[in-house]
Amino acid sequence: MDAFDHIRRNLDILLVAQRYGINIDRHHKALCIYHQDKKPSMSFKNNRFKCFSCGVGGSSIDLVQKLFSLEPLQAVKKINDDFGLGLDLKTDYKPDMGKIQEMERQRQLLRAFDDWIDKTHSTYARLARYYWQNMQKYRPVNEGDEFHPLYVEAVHRIETVNFYLGILLKGTQEEKTALYKDLNRMEVKAG
Ligand SMILES: [Zn+2]
Repeated sequence: MDAFDHIRRNLDILLVAQRYGINIDRHHKALCIYHQDKKPSMSFKNNRFKCFSCGVGGSSIDLVQKLFSLEPLQAVKKINDDFGLGLDLKTDYKPDMGKIQEMERQRQLLRAFDDWIDKTHSTYARLARYYWQNMQKYRPVNEGDEFHPLYVEAVHRIETVNFYLGILLKGTQEEKTALYKDLNRMEVKAG
């Protein structure tokens, strides 16, 4: 296995794409970098990308070639340096098992984070529906009516809930990570 194969097989293309600024959504799609893309048509699967609009597909090496206008070997060198892979590009290459395990761990973390996003999104979508229903149901009818506590709660909370939903759906990786930290901090406090 040479350095090219090693990168194609063992380095997660999602990590590579994200490292170089491609924003991948929770369905593993991104705006295509090969054509003027308005909605994400580039999808990532089996450690490769494929654009369903312009048809271009390939590996993380192809992606880096395109992003930085590099020859294949230059792209491999860049990836090798940026990810600290320590591949010897001149002689036969022996895989570093520690590095491979570390990459597998990162891949699992990434997947766990995606699961968390999905789960949290459905929880907050339910909450948003609940508050919205309470706002309709307990809306004060006449002037001077006392506010129902569930109405007050819904009015106070729905904006925050919608804000979270926006981040979970369309936020950048940084915004999502910040939200993850915030929500976990709250859970720790509540528990
Ligand atoms: Zn495309």
